[in-house]
Amino acid sequence: YHAVHEMLRDLKIPPYDFLRKHSFESYVREYWLVAAGAAVLLLLWLLYTVRVEVMVQHRTRELSAALARRDELEESVSVQRQQMDHLSRLSILGELSGTLAHELNQPLATIANYARSLTRRLARGNLSASATAQAADEIANESERAAGILNGIRAFARKRATTRERCDLYQLVNETVQIFRGMTARAPEVHVTDSLAADYRWVVADPLQIQQVLLNLLKNAMDAQKAAGSDAVIEVVLAPAATSGWVQVRVRDHGCGLSQEDLSRLFEAFFTTKKDGMGLGLSICKTIVEAHGGALSASVPEDGCGLELIFTLALHHAVLKPDRKDMT
Ligand code: ADP
Repeated sequence: YHAVHEMLRDLKIPPYDFLRKHSFESYVREYWLVAAGAAVLLLLWLLYTVRVEVMVQHRTRELSAALARRDELEESVSVQRQQMDHLSRLSILGELSGTLAHELNQPLATIANYARSLTRRLARGNLSASATAQAADEIANESERAAGILNGIRAFARKRATTRERCDLYQLVNETVQIFRGMTARAPEVHVTDSLAADYRWVVADPLQIQQVLLNLLKNAMDAQKAAGSDAVIEVVLAPAATSGWVQVRVRDHGCGLSQEDLSRLFEAFFTTKKDGMGLGLSICKTIVEAHGGALSASVPEDGCGLELIFTLALHHAVLKPDRKDMT
């Protein structure tokens, strides 16, 4: 029967008629509706995908433009902050440098004295080599002192980008106190107490900005004491902060203090109680300290006299994860 079966299969007649039914055309005829539906769905899906792609590209362009605008704005804010920072430093200098001329006058007068004494001795013929050497030495020392004052001021006043570096807080505070006392006529005594362990004085900061903050606080403390007619010592204390890894600097005066209402407005820009005040000093100090990750606050001391301003700074990570080589 094999040959018969082959023939029946070729002719696609029973029992091989199913082969006729399941040809491609038979499938098409049977399922064209489903196939057409699937094709329409595929087309719709394709259209949807293209639309989503176009929308994504459009949104991406919008987002990039918005990010670029934000970057521009941030850049301009940072430039303006730096300008404000610079202006504030100039303003502190302006306020404190009333006696700068007097400060410079001292080394200049000493230089002039030594020079005159040299000429006099030379005229009298009793100028020894050792006296000449000593006078020349003193003249050089005094010139360096004058140059030091000017350099300190120039560095403080110059326009510059902010930095972050590891600084010795104790040294920074002492240098600032010296600048303050050097530039202020009849400056009050400033007493610095350091209760930090030697390794815990390293902070990460922009030294000039921290100087700026301290100078502002010292100047305010001095003004407050002047207003109260007090010549008490201004106390500056360096101590560990409540949060580990942080230090605090406290500046306490015995001045006129502030009412609770004024205290709550202390850091507002343009808040001032002074006749010629700008009211920008403390708000700039707050911005600077916060840009360092710290906080600036004020409180009335327990004895109720004067005011205490406190700011915090982060210790250098080398202190938290000691790397002795780096610390030396
Ligand atoms: P300005 O010194 O130009 O007024 P500040 O922002 O430095 O601007 O200070 C704002 C105000 O805060 C001052 O006018 C003063 O009233 C008050 N103030 C600041 N520090 C003290 C202080 N140590 N004691 C009392 N008042 C203070």
